[in-house]
This record gives sequence, structure tokens and C-alpha cells, in this order.
Amino acid sequence: MADQTPAPETPRARDFIRELVADDVATGRFGRAPATRFPPEPNGFLHMGHAKSICLNFGIAREFGGTCNLRFDDTNPFTEDAKYVEAIKRDVAWLGFTWDGEFYASDYFERLYEIAEGLVTRGKAYVDDQTEEQIRTNRGTVTSPGTPSPWRDRTPAENLDLLRRMKAGEFEDGARVLRARIDMAHPNMVMRDPLLLRIRRGAHHYRRGTSWQVFPLYDFAHGLSDAIEGITRSLCTLEFKDNREIYDWLVREAGFASPPTQIEFARLELDYTVLSKRKLLRLVNEGHVAGWDDPRMPTIAGLRRRGVRPEAIRTFAETIGVARKDARVEIAIFEHAVRDDLNMEVPRRLAVLNPVKVVLTNYPEGQVEQLEAQDYPHDVPRTGTRTIPFSRELYIDRDDFLEDPPKKFFRLSPGNEVRLRFGYIIRCEEVVKDAAGRIVELRCTYDPETRSGGANSDRKVKGTIHWVSAPHALSCEVRLYDRLFRQPDPDDVPEGQDFLAALNPESLVVIADAKVEPTVAADPVGTRYQFERTGYFMTDVVDSAPGRLVFNRIVGLRDSWAKELKKG
Ligand code: ATP
Ligand code: MG
Repeated sequence: MADQTPAPETPRARDFIRELVADDVATGRFGRAPATRFPPEPNGFLHMGHAKSICLNFGIAREFGGTCNLRFDDTNPFTEDAKYVEAIKRDVAWLGFTWDGEFYASDYFERLYEIAEGLVTRGKAYVDDQTEEQIRTNRGTVTSPGTPSPWRDRTPAENLDLLRRMKAGEFEDGARVLRARIDMAHPNMVMRDPLLLRIRRGAHHYRRGTSWQVFPLYDFAHGLSDAIEGITRSLCTLEFKDNREIYDWLVREAGFASPPTQIEFARLELDYTVLSKRKLLRLVNEGHVAGWDDPRMPTIAGLRRRGVRPEAIRTFAETIGVARKDARVEIAIFEHAVRDDLNMEVPRRLAVLNPVKVVLTNYPEGQVEQLEAQDYPHDVPRTGTRTIPFSRELYIDRDDFLEDPPKKFFRLSPGNEVRLRFGYIIRCEEVVKDAAGRIVELRCTYDPETRSGGANSDRKVKGTIHWVSAPHALSCEVRLYDRLFRQPDPDDVPEGQDFLAALNPESLVVIADAKVEPTVAADPVGTRYQFERTGYFMTDVVDSAPGRLVFNRIVGLRDSWAKELKKG
């Protein structure tokens, strides 16, 4: 066994991209280890779609013993910002990935310019004096060829002179552009003499300042940046399929030996949200959310603040896999991954979101007992206990009491018994209401023989509910997040409206005064819990402060009662 070389198929080829990469390794196609990159434009925060791409690119590098770079495709001086670079780095690291190289397309401007001069010299590019508008109109249509520019046949010498003067800042923005000289009748519109460089004289680039005047277009910068870095497979989303031809043309014309090739995969589209920086930016700028890290946002920063763990995002990416065809993914699949992850990890606590007072009329006034409570259920491989105070006055959730219950309502109702989690069996004797008919207090009796763990503790009642001791409970603010949009596809709105029309007005419900057991006071901000029978929560890291507890709901539990109601 000792002489065995590592089998190239060691990583399981679980999708078509990994199959191709495994094949690269087996055939030695690139003559180097698999090299990928994650190439965000620093013009916004990363979202779940990016997470899919990150898991794919970094995952492949990790599995195949290759490398993955973080490269900022920062070629647009008008939209990019250093604050986005910082946010992107924080988010990639938080997701659990370490990049091999950190690169910036804006560092390649000189190199790209040299390549441009090379193309001009060989008659493969020309300076066009048409406006971008004219160029667009003259590009023709899928069914008709384009009209060649009157400047298409300039000599290389003339083109070189003009290009140098473009770079030197002699011409106004839009006066001239550099175009590849390919084929104005090409069946692929992208190949009809695409733009390579445009003048942006006054622009301030967040890294280059005003020192640079001729900015590469996406197609010109992207593939060549990959080639400069020695990338082997350039993974991108399906909308770039038509751009593959210009990608190949450019890396070939620039003379790269064994250049990278592009593979397209389906973009992630998630139900009930939007995965587009442009749209997310509108939500932020127009104040529909509190910021990029609003816990309702599908951004990495939003999910982190909400309390989702990176493990859940990675598992989700794994679950959905990569495909060649676009398809929307149900949000339930993501929520399932989040719930599954938290279930195994986080301690249970008791909290009452919608409190109503319970008074145990036969419990001695002033008495306080310390009850032992388990932090985890039996089917979770973690253990821990704590003690929680029990007294004569408690809070339970309003939803756990019904004056006139339907069949199969196994919670509290007049004359009926219920068990208090970790505590006693109680019976409701009297309902106290205010003048408006609202229930203000439930007067109950408790059975002292039924304390959990005690001799009579196995007396059976059908239901167990959660509670907190009223004088000991901590007041807290609870933020219940729901889907940001009312419908699976937010873009599916009547003509004349846009995705904002589909916003869910109830995506955030704030409970100003919920009650939580006092043990949480000792935990650091950012601790996650399952509030039993209620959902998963984390203290909000921004708004919590000493003496101010704020909880974000990460995700709810499945509510079997809601299902029952529907069935009935
Ligand atoms: P957006 O439309 O949100 O601005 P983008 O593709 O313009 O997205 P980039 O910063 O250019 O954003 O993307 C960086 C990388 O992330 C690209 O390789 C891109 O293909 C990938 N990516 C972006 N959105 C998704 C998505 N929804 N699903 C999968 N990959 C994505
Ligand atoms: Mg983009």
C-alpha cells in the first residue's frame, strides 16, 4: 500500500463541475493543481448566491488540494468602495474559508493596458470614435449583422497613437473607446467587436484614486485576470454563457499558455427573497430594511446577525448542489438546514413571548424553589443542567390557554390540567378578566406531589407547557422575523410595479416586553438558544446592552398545532 500514489478520484465527483476538475487532475490538462477564485465586485454585501459560489470555489480547492483566490473585480470606479471590500473579506472568513491569494483586478490595469497595446499592434483591436450609444445601435440584432464602424480599418500605428493618448488623458469621457476587432456579423452578439477600454477621466477609483483614466470593461478584465493568476477553471453563473467565447478569444490572443476555461452553473434563486446586489441596495437605500445586516436580508451579514451559523449555510450549499439549469430553491430547504444545525448545538431555555399571569393560589406566598432543568433533550449529544426559580406567580404564553378549547387542545383550559416544564402539574380554577374582557390572570392550583423527578412525577397529563417565574423573569425585546416578501418570486408582480410591491409588511414584528428565565443574564451577547416550544433565538449583537436584552428569532420550530388546525 505504501507505494500507492493518491488516487485522483479521491474527492467524490458529486456534480458536473467536480467531474470536470477530477478529469483535469487525472489527465494533467493544465499542468498545475486546480486553481479557482471567488471574484466579487466590491459594490455591495455578499448574499446567499455568493455563498453558493464561495462554497463551490473554495470547496473544490480544498477537496482537490488546489488553491482559491479572493479577487476583487473592481473595474467600475463609480460603484465600488473599500467598505465593501472589508465586508466581503469578513463574510468569506466567517463562512470558514481562507483564500490563498488576495488580488484586485485594479492592480492589473497596467498589465491589461499592455495587452491592449499588443492587440492593437497585431490589428486585433481598434480605437472607435463612435459613441457607446452608436456602437450599441450598430451592433445589429441576432438575425441581422452589425454595421462596421467607420473607424474599424484604422492602421495599427494610428490606433496605437490614439490609445496612448486615451491613456494620457487627452480625450473626454466617451470620446473614444477601444474595441476588439473580431467579426461584426458574428452569430454571438458578444463577439461583434466588444468594447475593451473606456475613458473615465474624472472618475475616482477607491484604490487607484484619479491616477487611472482608461477602465477595462468586465469581459476584458475578467478572463485575463483569471489567466494572470493561473486559474484553471473559472466558475461563473449561466448568464455568462455567451461571454465564454470572448473569454477564450482574449486569453488566447493575449498569448497565455494553458489558459483557464470557463464553466457555467445555475445561479441560486431563493423563494421569498431577492439575490441581487442591485435590488438589495435598493432595499437598503430606500429604507425598507435597517441596513445590509438587517436580519431579514439574505446577505451573509444579515444571516450572521440573525443568528444563523456558517455551518448551516455550508450544509445548505452542499444540499442544493450545483446544476446546469436555473431553478428556484424553496426557502424551506434553507430553514431546514438552519434548524437542523441549531438543534444539535444550542441549549434550551424557557421564554414567554406573549405573557399572561398565572397565580398558584395554593402555593405558599414568598416561597421560591430552584428546579433543575436540562439544557438539551435526550436525542442531542450534549448535556448540561441549570436551575430555574419557581414561585407562586408565573407567566405562561397566552397561546397556551384557551377558555373554550377545541378537541385535542392539550394545553391549559378551565378545569383542565397541564404540566409545567421541569415543574408541577397545575389546574386552572378561575379566569380573571378586565373590564374589556381581556384575560389578565389565570388562577390555578398546583399539585405538590407532581414535581418533575419526584415520586409522583409520572402522573400523566397530556400537555406540557413552558413558563417563567414572574418575579424572577427578565424583560426582553423579541424581534420576530418573517419572510421579506409575500410571494415566492418577488419579481412576479403586475405590469408597472416592481419587486418592492411584493414586500411583506409583517416581515418584522417586535415584542416589546417578553419574559425570559433569569439564567440568560450571565451569557455573552451573541449566545444562541432554543426557547422551548417557540423557536431558535440569538441576542442581537448590535442593539443588546447591559440591562437591555434584545433577541432575534433565527428560525421557528415546526408548529404541529398549526398543522392540526388546518387538518381539522
Ligand atoms: P449580483 O447580481 O447580486 O450583483 P453579481 O454576479 O453581479 O451578483 P459579483 O460580485 O459579480 O455579483 O459575483 C461574484 C461571484 O458570485 C460571481 O462569480 C458570481 O457568478 C457569483 N454569484 C453571484 N450571484 C450568485 C447567485 N445568485 N448564485 C450563484 N453564484 C452567484
Ligand atoms: Mg456583477
